[in-house]
Amino acid sequence: MNLSAKNVFFLVEAKYSCSICGLHYTKKELADMCHMWCSKHDSCNLSVASKSIEAMARRKNVK
Ligand SMILES: [Zn+2]
Repeated sequence: MNLSAKNVFFLVEAKYSCSICGLHYTKKELADMCHMWCSKHDSCNLSVASKSIEAMARRKNVK
């Protein structure tokens, strides 16, 4: 719920984002892959989306 230091770290690392779905990535290649997928399909590619900052932060919070 509250923004932990870990979450802030992830947000700082979110240098690249997909302008279509809004997910953030640490690597430009991943953001490009996501953007290509999102422009062709109406849904996110799970294998790419699972590498997003959002998905990683969510995973860190799950115990
Ligand atoms: Zn996307």
